[in-house]
Amino acid sequence: MQNPQEKVVVITGASSGIGEATARLLASKGARVVLGARRIQRLENLASDIRAAGGVADVLALDVTVPQSVQAIIDFAVQRHGRVDVLINNAGVMPLSKLEALKVNEWNQMIDVNIRGVLHGIAAALPLMQRQRAGQIINIASIGAYAVSPTAAVYCATKYAVRAISEGLRQEVGGYIRVTVIAPGVTESELAESISDEGGRAEMREFRKIAIGADAIARAIAYAIEQPADVDVSELIVRPTASPF
Ligand code: NDP
Repeated sequence: MQNPQEKVVVITGASSGIGEATARLLASKGARVVLGARRIQRLENLASDIRAAGGVADVLALDVTVPQSVQAIIDFAVQRHGRVDVLINNAGVMPLSKLEALKVNEWNQMIDVNIRGVLHGIAAALPLMQRQRAGQIINIASIGAYAVSPTAAVYCATKYAVRAISEGLRQEVGGYIRVTVIAPGVTESELAESISDEGGRAEMREFRKIAIGADAIARAIAYAIEQPADVDVSELIVRPTASPF
């Protein structure tokens, strides 16, 4: 199946930003999207929009830090549609701060959502995709998966980890399951709102002025899905043209 048409696509963190834009784009191309996040009302509103435009969308409350919750959305997708063709591990948080600020809880939150959340997605979907002898796991990394900057040590560490996990997975199951890393540069979303550090938030506001729309990342994701089954788009960096990073 070359087009996203009728593919069953589970998206984590679909309540805003990149996840939301991806849900809208893939649904408009005919994919059946199954959307998860904690803010269920946001998901309900998004699904209503998609259905009003003639698309197919289902929603389920999801916390990617809880393995059972991630398993539940995969099971829900199978119950609704009989299979899962694509899992997009998109949920992420970015409370940036310098290490010396010792925001240990925020470090752990980033590890829990950005790394463990991706692993929980793999654990939930991989056995199913192995049974299907087909599937695609798309992990959203970042330009922070290639370079580190002050205040972003832990965030970048989580995204380096996402790249490492994705590459290992690709090598292990690449025979018939496609693994894709999408690495966005600065993109319009609610991500910077998780920064609790005042200085970090101010710097980020300046840094994010050149942000590209979340639809740019959605198009990259659609491109990776649309390739034939024997073509694995392993890694894509999509950043603002004006970005030096
Ligand atoms: P947003 O903050 O707009 O979206 C993040 C999404 O993750 C929300 O839908 C949020 O939903 C969800 N989420 C957070 N924690 C959890 C959780 N525990 N369980 C389930 N869902 C969760 O930011 P973006 O759209 O930018 O982020 C999407 C991905 O893109 C992230 O992985 C981010 O690291 C990555 N990225 C973004 C860049 C950018 O500049 N925007 C650049 C590089 C990478 P809810 O709160 O409802 O649970």
